[in-house]
Amino acid sequence: MISRILLKSLAQGPLTEEAPERDEAALAELAARVDRVARKRLGRTLAIREVDAGSCNGCELEIHALNNVVYDLERFGLRFVASPRHADVLLVTGPVTLNMREALERTYQATPDPKWVVAVGDCARNGGVFAGSAACVGGVSAVLAVDLHIPGCPPSPNALLKGLLALLESVST
Ligand code: SF4
Repeated sequence: MISRILLKSLAQGPLTEEAPERDEAALAELAARVDRVARKRLGRTLAIREVDAGSCNGCELEIHALNNVVYDLERFGLRFVASPRHADVLLVTGPVTLNMREALERTYQATPDPKWVVAVGDCARNGGVFAGSAACVGGVSAVLAVDLHIPGCPPSPNALLKGLLALLESVST
């Protein structure tokens, strides 16, 4: 039985999907613009703290992709930091659950000024597919003032980069 499954797998080849096409030049240009504007606004690279306020983890997968071997955005100066005390931007995903509300508020309070809140994904806007759940407070704006919303379920890494660029170009420090 096992040998039959093995033979079938070998004959079929991998069932994983091909990685999406990627325009390296466009990505590099976009990331470089984000870094250039960040250095102009902040005098240094942009530091991001990601906060999962109750998402399904789909948005996290796309955010994590910014740092994987395909995108590798640290080479352009974008940094994800472990502590909100070192962050400029809070990237918040998911509907805000009752259990995460206080943690989100405390993370915001721990982030030094100037700071910006970016709500990532449809759930972060208004609860998305979780809207109306007794376990959720609602979108991120139900708890914090949101500077930018990046739509999508989930938004792609390119959409995340474009959102960060739009945020940096629109704010003054
Ligand atoms: S927007 Fe979509 S991917 Fe993101 S947390 Fe909601 S359901 Fe998940």
